[in-house]
Amino acid sequence: MPERDVHYDAVVVGAGPNGLAAAVELARGGRSVLVLEANEQIGGGTSSMELTLPGFVHDLGSAIHPLGVGSPFFRSLPLEEHGLEWVHPAAPLAHPLDGGRAAVLERSIEETGCTLGGDAAAYRRLMQPLVREWERIIPAVLGPPRPTRHVLALGRFGLQAIRSARKLAAGAFREEPARALFAGNAAHSFLPLERSPSAAFGLILGLLGHAVGWPFPKGGSQRIAGALASYLRSLGGEIRTGVRVSSVNELPPARAYLFNVTPRQLLKIAGDRLPARYRSALGRYRYGPGAFKLDLALDGPVPWEAEECARAGTVHLGGTLEEIAAGERAVCRGQHPERPFVLLAQQSLFDPTRAPEGKHTVWAYCHVPNGSWYDMTERIEAQIERFAPGFRDRILAKRPTGPAELERMNPNLVGGDINGGLMDLRQFVARPVASPTPYRTPARDIYICSSSTPPGGGVHGMCGYHAARAVLSDHP
Ligand SMILES: Cc1cc2nc3c(=O)[nH]c(=O)nc-3n(C[C@H](O)[C@H](O)[C@H](O)COP(=O)(O)OP(=O)(O)OC[C@H]3O[C@@H](n4cnc5c(N)ncnc54)[C@H](O)[C@@H]3O)c2cc1C
Repeated sequence: MPERDVHYDAVVVGAGPNGLAAAVELARGGRSVLVLEANEQIGGGTSSMELTLPGFVHDLGSAIHPLGVGSPFFRSLPLEEHGLEWVHPAAPLAHPLDGGRAAVLERSIEETGCTLGGDAAAYRRLMQPLVREWERIIPAVLGPPRPTRHVLALGRFGLQAIRSARKLAAGAFREEPARALFAGNAAHSFLPLERSPSAAFGLILGLLGHAVGWPFPKGGSQRIAGALASYLRSLGGEIRTGVRVSSVNELPPARAYLFNVTPRQLLKIAGDRLPARYRSALGRYRYGPGAFKLDLALDGPVPWEAEECARAGTVHLGGTLEEIAAGERAVCRGQHPERPFVLLAQQSLFDPTRAPEGKHTVWAYCHVPNGSWYDMTERIEAQIERFAPGFRDRILAKRPTGPAELERMNPNLVGGDINGGLMDLRQFVARPVASPTPYRTPARDIYICSSSTPPGGGVHGMCGYHAARAVLSDHP
């Protein structure tokens, strides 16, 4: 534990992307900052490691970063000078269907339309006005909760986003490729596709694909954390790893403590400093379904039946809208779908640093009930094999990681929830509590800066940035 006699302006607990972002913003504001991280490696959800075989670099958490490259905060930082290089695959996303067809989210709306049959014009009508306005929409979506300002700023987008993905897709599109493409993006919400605001995820991920792409960092997602840490150190910030904080009372003196943890952990670490009403509000905070992850080392690329899939960094495997919706509904009812919706990334096709020559990595996960112990390896592999016959013969090594192990590696992944809490309509507004500045707690020196605050999950650093702005304004 750090010496108690050293005084910092701020101590940040947790070196995930939001903890590091908060520390960077505070250091940019001239404050002395210390970051304490439980693991030996910084990064939290944005970490990479040789998980399977020597020379194969796997991303432990996040892989694909439309929110990272579109983040107004990250865009304001010199991260490229600190080692971050975005790799843009030929296409952001492919969504294969049975029979060797695939819908493809291309950077261009027109080219995307070419893969959507009779829905090309409908797709253009839906996406073009949003893409034109992306520089207004994305900062508003990633901003702190300001309901009236949001509605005005988001206008047309807000009206669509508030709907369920199923209603929007069924209303906008007549054919399966466009419906399935939209459903796959919306399923990133971890919500049943009949629930609002699952459509928001479909729209935001689609529009980011056109506006900024779905890139990943050369060398592994760890490079995002590495670049933030390197910039932080250049500003005078300190980072100590291998320090698991169990009580706020152990921390060195500071004017502000920022916790890059979820409400459940904050209650354990700082509950005795928080009033009963706030504690019970945090106690009511809900976590969403978990993730079951599968990392693979392959002898060659995935042999996709639909060749277009080899142009995409990300491939969504779940078939039709109906099939994806049924799978996500089952997960929310506590069941394990026979044919899960699988999110797959194939970074090594576009980044040779990820695997030895001629070999490849696959990053995949599916949704499971929170805290599930069921091994989904076989079902994930079967979904890949369905769209890429012969894929199993190329497996050299595999590493499944279920919710319990995810949480052991990073306590923020409660029951395997990768978003720091359910992202339904209520917890969009009350995250973790209803407040115009939810980063503040009733204790003047205690703040929360994780993805359990707006705008929620994803690697964008905006939760940390907004929390740091609150600290800078409260402690001038
Ligand atoms: C399998 C998986 C796939 C994902 N895919 C994507 C993706 O493709 N794109 C994307 O944008 N996002 C993705 N995400 C989500 C993204 O990783 C998270 O939303 C993001 O990392 C949240 O950032 P954070 O800083 O709030 O928390 P975290 O990244 O979880 O970091 C929290 C940090 O705090 C540390 N910590 C916790 N408690 C303590 C303590 N008591 N003392 C000291 N340190 C502590 C943890 O060890 C951790 O390092 C994925 C996540 C997972 C797990």
